[in-house]
Amino acid sequence: MTYFNDIKGRKPLKDQLSKLIEKGRINHGYIFEGPKGSGKKLIADAFSELLFCLNPNKLNTCNMCEGCIGYKEKYILQSDKAITVEDIRTLVADTQLMPFQNKRKIYIIHNADTMTDQAQNAFLKTLEEPPSYAYFILTVTNSEQLIDTILSRTVILYTGVNTRQEVVEYLEEKHPDADMNYIYSAACFAEGCIGEADTLITDEKFKLCRKTAVDYLNGIKTDLMDKDVIEDITIFLEILQSIFRDTIVYKETEETANLINADISDIIKSTAVKCSSISLLNAYNAVVKAAEYIKDNVSANIAVGTMNIELMEELNI
Ligand SMILES: [Zn+2]
Repeated sequence: MTYFNDIKGRKPLKDQLSKLIEKGRINHGYIFEGPKGSGKKLIADAFSELLFCLNPNKLNTCNMCEGCIGYKEKYILQSDKAITVEDIRTLVADTQLMPFQNKRKIYIIHNADTMTDQAQNAFLKTLEEPPSYAYFILTVTNSEQLIDTILSRTVILYTGVNTRQEVVEYLEEKHPDADMNYIYSAACFAEGCIGEADTLITDEKFKLCRKTAVDYLNGIKTDLMDKDVIEDITIFLEILQSIFRDTIVYKETEETANLINADISDIIKSTAVKCSSISLLNAYNAVVKAAEYIKDNVSANIAVGTMNIELMEELNI
């Protein structure tokens, strides 16, 4: 169970929800939209607790009413794959059953933007005429994937992200043994998404991709065609892009305060000294171009191969 007190930051979202609750006009459908790893699940869960409460005060549940202490019927639908029409039919069948204790039943659909068209249409029918006790909370990274008729019947709320400082504090608490500079880099890289930062800290593949990128810059012969790098090519290119971005920033400002990859500031400094501004910019653009190729489904080998030639020329590796 999550409460809003447990969720760091997010003042705009909390203010907006607070006002909604205060007005007391509760809709049957809500969508929480935000980037991957930005805590949508926690927010959806905290919001469901509020919806159960019969006397909420701003974002606090009363913890005394029937809704708070009674049995809560919370149905959570989440899938690693796309949500199918069968998944939705099972959920819809459940909505036909009256709650046996509480006044409300709450349905949470995670990654609802992965619903197939058929699933969305099946869900729409229930959303159009929901039983009085049924409430739906959807989490999505991109609401544009949902059909307009679903969007028009729901309240869409942007979850926002955390500040860099909030992410750093969270990581420090959760990973007391981790290197502070690495924590800072993960926080920067995750762009305010706590869940994402948490994954980065523990993700061996991220560490490996980062090491390959750093070795590459250091002029150590690295195999960019390494199976692991190719498998996580998007991450690898994002890392490389952030390092070149840092190098350009350092070249212009000679300051390390705004670097994403503060833990490798030595390498960033030496690369900045070694290369001209134009070369660094060209190198950065070569990485961006490779990332675009990957998005356009060009094979990783070709995208990386082309980038590699350009980088070697620009950086004299
Ligand atoms: Zn209550």
